[in-house]
Amino acid sequence: MPTMQHHFSLKNYNSFGIDVSAALYATPETIEELKGVLDQYDFTNLPYLVMGEGSNLLFKGDFEGLVLNPRMKGIELVEDESGQVVVRVGAAENWDSWVEYATRQGWFGLENLSLIPGSVGSAPVQNIGAYGVEMKDHFAWLEAWDLQQKLPVRLNGEDCRFDYRSSIFKTNARGRYIITHVAFRLNKQPQLQLNYGPVKEAFTKSRGATPMDLRNSIIKIRNQKLPDPGEFGNAGSFFKNPLVDRTIFKCIRVDYPEIPNFHDKENCVKIPAAWLIETAGWKGKRTGKVGTWPTQPLVIVNYGGVTGQEILDFSEQIRHDVDKKFGVYLEREVNVV
Ligand SMILES: Cc1cc2nc3c(=O)[nH]c(=O)nc-3n(C[C@H](O)[C@H](O)[C@H](O)COP(=O)(O)OP(=O)(O)OC[C@H]3O[C@@H](n4cnc5c(N)ncnc54)[C@H](O)[C@@H]3O)c2cc1C
Repeated sequence: MPTMQHHFSLKNYNSFGIDVSAALYATPETIEELKGVLDQYDFTNLPYLVMGEGSNLLFKGDFEGLVLNPRMKGIELVEDESGQVVVRVGAAENWDSWVEYATRQGWFGLENLSLIPGSVGSAPVQNIGAYGVEMKDHFAWLEAWDLQQKLPVRLNGEDCRFDYRSSIFKTNARGRYIITHVAFRLNKQPQLQLNYGPVKEAFTKSRGATPMDLRNSIIKIRNQKLPDPGEFGNAGSFFKNPLVDRTIFKCIRVDYPEIPNFHDKENCVKIPAAWLIETAGWKGKRTGKVGTWPTQPLVIVNYGGVTGQEILDFSEQIRHDVDKKFGVYLEREVNVV
């Protein structure tokens, strides 16, 4: 049975590097251990948080409850058909190590999602995505502990209602499930996704041909563009790209004909949040020890010793200015705790 640790420092367990602690911290490695932890804790009255590697969390302060870090490991081939495989992966496996392993095994499809920080168990929560691919494109099912029914359950893609950086785990079932395993359906034949302009360019330039070459191109692009959380605390994109009504979009375009946009759902247009933030004057802006990253204003950076509340206040100023200038409300991608 895993012991619960008291006043556990989370400073090295969140990618913003915020110096906070959890009143209780537990790391169950099996379902039995998880049940044991749950039996010891009063979930009706006390707060709890499920946590992976802390790369999409912003702590405003100490967490006065239980932080659960599921430590189920393992990679298991469960189906091997003519053209595809289904592989079941433990929640605690590191996402990028899993992507590298899959690519080496000749199980293809996740290459564009290379180098995204975090654990496998967190990937379904916001349906991680990058460079034209989303986790849902290769999702088979997941296994979770349902805190409501007090039972282990298996959920398929439809149950999870994946959307752009969203799922039931971020919306109406927030806090209900503890994901323990995720299964992926992958191709045995490479199907390289090169639709995203800069990826195609980097891949062609590198004279790439294989999925591993594609993975390497993605890693190169990401390393050039994004700050390393080990050096500058951050949680990747702070906000989502907003989906705006076409009529509102047309009004903005009158003043900003150069506004980049992507066609999305019927009558809606997706605008890059980075462009809105930059145009509102926030690119590379710094207030004390918090600022936006000079080459990617969507990323808010801890330049050293900043508190979660300071980061939140800074982000609210950006949100306010973008709203004032464009009438567009930015939704946070990062989970504030
Ligand atoms: C430099 C950088 C770049 C990034 N780039 C991208 C990107 O390109 N695309 C992208 O989509 N994201 C990106 N992210 C965000 C982040 O990597 C992902 O959201 C990732 O899935 C978070 O994993 P984690 O294990 O760190 O989750 P955590 O931060 O620990 O948790 C995130 C959320 O998931 C919940 N959760 C975690 N584990 C479980 C579980 N087992 N069961 C139920 N709920 C759980 C938590 O309660 C929390 O709400 C980036 C982050 C950084 C720091």
